[in-house]
Amino acid sequence: MLSYEEALKKIDETVEQLPAVDNAITHILGHVLAESVTAAFDLPRFDNSAMDGYGVRGEDLVTITDDKPRELALVGVIEAGSQKAELKIEPGKAVKIFTGARVPPSVDTVVMKEYCDDLDSAVRVKEKTEAGSNIRRAGEEFKKGDLVLPSGILVTPPVVGLIASFGHARFKVYEQPRITIIGTGDELVTPGSELSASQIYDSNSYALAAAVQALGLPRPIRFNIKDQEDQIEAALKEALRQTDLIITTGGVSVGDRDLVKEVLEKRLGVETVFWRAKVKPGKPIYFGTTKHDGRQKLVFGLPGNPVSALTTFNLFVKPALAKMQGLKEDGDCKPERLKARIGKSLKKKPGRLDFVRGILSCDDDGVLTAIPTTGQDSHMLSGLARANCLIEFDEAAAKADENDLVTAQKLIWSEY
Ligand code: AMP
Ligand code: MG
Repeated sequence: MLSYEEALKKIDETVEQLPAVDNAITHILGHVLAESVTAAFDLPRFDNSAMDGYGVRGEDLVTITDDKPRELALVGVIEAGSQKAELKIEPGKAVKIFTGARVPPSVDTVVMKEYCDDLDSAVRVKEKTEAGSNIRRAGEEFKKGDLVLPSGILVTPPVVGLIASFGHARFKVYEQPRITIIGTGDELVTPGSELSASQIYDSNSYALAAAVQALGLPRPIRFNIKDQEDQIEAALKEALRQTDLIITTGGVSVGDRDLVKEVLEKRLGVETVFWRAKVKPGKPIYFGTTKHDGRQKLVFGLPGNPVSALTTFNLFVKPALAKMQGLKEDGDCKPERLKARIGKSLKKKPGRLDFVRGILSCDDDGVLTAIPTTGQDSHMLSGLARANCLIEFDEAAAKADENDLVTAQKLIWSEY
């Protein structure tokens, strides 16, 4: 049985990056850049005003004191977007100018409107402004050809903005994985229907679909099926055809009705990369792969217990998704791991790395404490619902005393 780190390594070695596509910039949010952004031109492109105010020659302001303002004759107005680069401002003159308007070469300083009285044909400048102020210089952020953003980073709103700033209507990003989520179990009923005395609602397929969507990925295909080989085979076969990643829950343990692994291996030719890992919750986790039409297909069989399903999604599926999407290793795709004092003593059987659901908080001195939530059993979702970290309780350890230093992984559903 693999350790947590060994399982992660296997996933990393197995998962291939999806192909790059050229998308409209309205459809790149949440994707990963497949090419770097380089400056197509200087940014800003031209000297422009950082303020609404008056464009002047800095030398005209040097005599201004609190009780000695300076009046300058107004020669015109420059609005944002207007072409008045030739407008020449002689000494003793000023031009009304707006934020973002191109500054003519004879203007070296913009005085904020708030420091001036507008006298219609002239302006009274009441406060001294240092020569050179309030002008955004051409190329001060980027020179033509500069690297703006590297490839391999997630497209966030400011990234979209930068790409648009350089005039790109389309940009190369990696495809996002198409995902199918299948809940398996004879006891499962879809929410909204009646339950018999021994049935339960399928919560996993919804929770996992939500976990996928929380990462900014498209809504997966989602449904549940019975523990019945033909049904499992048909559902998985179609999912392998249509989607890149399949996440099943339930039916991967050692019970007689745990048929998912067998169907994948024997009926669908999926190659098992690993089955079971020394983690708690989530020991029965299955990971396999196959090819379909030259495209890699991945299957995660997650255990059925709701906490196990979501925790293993976090621990194992998220890194696979990051790799598929082209997120670079040294970027933001590893969970943040912090040292914290544990707020309560814990006991366990050695042999598996426990991920104890906890609440991480920081006191006034910056000391972090991780308090295990109540309801740690793997069928008790409420403990996970309140948790913001997974406390790593070492494989070999049998106990942790209150205030012992532990490692806690931040648990943020919306981030890699
Ligand atoms: P299994 O891994 O199939 O042995 O299931 C382990 C436990 O998880 C059982 O108590 C199941 O009833 C429960 N379970 C399995 N699938 C789901 C699901 N989709 N939603 C909620 N509970 C589930
Ligand atoms: Mg089951």
